[in-house]
Amino acid sequence: MPVAAESILRVALPLPLPRLFDYYAPEGHAPMPDDVGSRVRVPFGNRELVGLVAAIGAPDPDAPALRAALSLLDATPLFHGELRDSLHWLARYTHAPLGEVFATALPAALRRGEPLPDTHAWAWVLTEAGVTAHSRLRGRPRRLADLLLEGALDESRLDDQFEDWRSAARALLKRGLAERMAIPATQYAPTPQPGPTLNAEQRVAIDTIQATDGFAALLLDGVTGSGKTEVYLHAIADCLARGKQALVLVPEIGLTPQTLTRFRARLGVPVHALHSGLNDGERARVWAAAWRGEARVIVGTRSAVFTPLPDAGLIVIDEEHDGSYKQQDGIRYHARDFALVRGKALGVPVLLGSATPSLETLHNARGGRYAHLRLTQRAGDARPPSVRVLDVRKRPLQAGLSPELLTAIRAALDAGGQVLVFKNRRGYAPVLLCHDCGWSAQCKRCDAPMTVHAGGRRLQCHHCGARQAVPDACPDCGGLALQPQGIGTERLEEWLAETFADVPVLRVDRGSTRRRDALETLLTELGTRPGILVGTQMLAKGHDLPNLTLVAVVGIDEGLFSADFRSGEKLAQLLIQVAGRAGRADKRGEVLLQTHHPEHPLLLTLINGGYHAYADSEFTQREAANFPPFAPLALLRAEAQHAEPPLAFLQAAKAVLRDVDTQLELQGPLPAPMPRRAGYQRAQLLLSAGDRRSLHAALDAALPAIYALPEARKLRWSLDIDPVDLY
Ligand code: ADP
Ligand code: ZN
Ligand code: ZN
Repeated sequence: MPVAAESILRVALPLPLPRLFDYYAPEGHAPMPDDVGSRVRVPFGNRELVGLVAAIGAPDPDAPALRAALSLLDATPLFHGELRDSLHWLARYTHAPLGEVFATALPAALRRGEPLPDTHAWAWVLTEAGVTAHSRLRGRPRRLADLLLEGALDESRLDDQFEDWRSAARALLKRGLAERMAIPATQYAPTPQPGPTLNAEQRVAIDTIQATDGFAALLLDGVTGSGKTEVYLHAIADCLARGKQALVLVPEIGLTPQTLTRFRARLGVPVHALHSGLNDGERARVWAAAWRGEARVIVGTRSAVFTPLPDAGLIVIDEEHDGSYKQQDGIRYHARDFALVRGKALGVPVLLGSATPSLETLHNARGGRYAHLRLTQRAGDARPPSVRVLDVRKRPLQAGLSPELLTAIRAALDAGGQVLVFKNRRGYAPVLLCHDCGWSAQCKRCDAPMTVHAGGRRLQCHHCGARQAVPDACPDCGGLALQPQGIGTERLEEWLAETFADVPVLRVDRGSTRRRDALETLLTELGTRPGILVGTQMLAKGHDLPNLTLVAVVGIDEGLFSADFRSGEKLAQLLIQVAGRAGRADKRGEVLLQTHHPEHPLLLTLINGGYHAYADSEFTQREAANFPPFAPLALLRAEAQHAEPPLAFLQAAKAVLRDVDTQLELQGPLPAPMPRRAGYQRAQLLLSAGDRRSLHAALDAALPAIYALPEARKLRWSLDIDPVDLY
């Protein structure tokens, strides 16, 4: 029997296999070009999977008999146009299966095959009975009825006007006095509030953005507090005025309720937030609202880079250097880099903001590929903080703090200010040691010590999450002299709370604030009263702290000597970002940097010349070492229960790579810097090439053979293009 030419669906499935899977179309459906980009439910083995139609085609006469797809899930393809093309690009760039890339780009609910959710907004209105009964109502129901007397009100407007309106609405609904109705999503628009008058540098930045026609990458390189966010807001308002959508990416920790309130107040349109705090349904709704063009401003973290933008006008990436933009497992994409690809395909400007631009971005700006906009002054009357290095060699330390530092903390508190003590060590103490025999608590599944938590009662591994109680006696010698060694944020908090008993001491790290709201509540409660914040790098950004006058940085010394080629850049960025939190508007801030290495070149350059001087010296070293941004890297990782298979697999992969390109530089295979993690033995092979094109060409040529290696069967392996962490 002759078969119609284009009779099958070629489906991208979320499986770690670099190919498409052919199916007959579901019963009664003739495949059409319009099916491409739609989700489809298919049988796979004895399971059902949701995939995406990547193409339609003719069946391969030599292939085994095909099964039929069960159902097409979308009347209109979810992925089409620019986003579909960009995702194809991403699959090629990451050398990842298309089906996994599509799955990564979809919110979980849609990935499971749920229908694109309804995105109506809801409004409340009084019934006739409600209007009549209005004057007899009391309390909260009365307050709500008063608001509704003028007409229906959108739920987001109610959120703005009346904190606890939902319980009142329920009460009215139960008595038949009010009802809920669906309205188009874009109706509610708060009145925008005016911002401050722009300064000359901000004006230049905005003029340049407005003058761009089509795609351009623009680096907004502005010191902390220089008014970068003001520039974003103007550029977004301009984009909205042209009837276009704006996408704003922010680091995980930067997306605070404060930020959203500021955006909502200033833009006068609903702002849709996408972050890890949302449930699956909420995420899918925001995605759908953007897909339909209803969401005009989307502010989100890393994965928001996959938001559909049918009317795109602008993409902003705040704190573009931030490490949270790189996905560390699955499809290892970089949201900043992918945003640039999308901006180019969409023909819209991409604005990258930072006080400490990544060396990749700075390199592009210096090479003239990105426009380089500078904001060199703090906005308004705010002055930059003064920075002082405290040499603590031979000084008596208490909880790791020198007497000079303690005096400065006391003085700042007495002057009515707030103090931030920055220490990048979570937990109570980094190590539990037996003073009798030298035993220390190691994780059973990782090559790492366990961190002491809970005031010294619990041990926890920061790499695999393992937990256990602190033993009563030393497991080796039975002695009772187990002692926490060193200082973590928990112990520092305990000590500071005792020493500065007259002020509140708040700890801000992943341990203390699992939930975003918890942190916000703590900080709001503190207000502008004198107090101490102790914490890890979570303190480097986020909630605005206008009364912060002293920043004390302690325990940075080990970061100065890390082996990772990016550790210097990360430390420099962290120091500048933390320091930038000191002093705002009317209060000059002070930064004290406590170290045993006051002569270290990184510190000297950073303090005397600032971030750009540091970047200059770092550029010289990277170029000499042939590291990014001068040469592209890729990392092939493998892990298994035993140490041998990963090394054997990587050795075989190396031979394949060597075969396809003799110019490729291959380092390894070597055990990972932490060889055993969560019970797995890990190894890696580092690839670098003279240019991107030859790196990708070599991988394209080698990967089919690498997938097929017999050694690949007994382990997990992955490829990371442009790895950020080399372990
Ligand atoms: P950044 O994003 O660079 O850290 P922001 O945009 O948050 O800076 O601005 C820092 C502070 O300065 C904010 O309180 C903001 O309202 C204020 N600000 C920004 N631009 C101006 C300006 N031109 N005049 C006065 N104040 C400004
Ligand atoms: Zn012991
Ligand atoms: Zn562990």
